[in-house]
Amino acid sequence: MPRYEYRCRPCGTTFELNRPMAESSDPAACPEGHQDTVKLLSTVAVGGTASAPSAAPRGGGGGCCGGGCCG
Ligand SMILES: [Zn+2]
Repeated sequence: MPRYEYRCRPCGTTFELNRPMAESSDPAACPEGHQDTVKLLSTVAVGGTASAPSAAPRGGGGGCCGGGCCG
């Protein structure tokens, strides 16, 4: 079930609700009971953070640093 985030305008709090997609646009009362809430853009976490392929393979045959090319 998708999770939606709402913001309450009277008290300014943000809260999350797990509700069916068909009810995503229905009014959601905040934990304080206010009805004047707006739905925020849902942040769907897919996968994780994009990791840069910075891990270069060590060694790799020993072409450099062995023949004097690195100084
Ligand atoms: Zn509220």
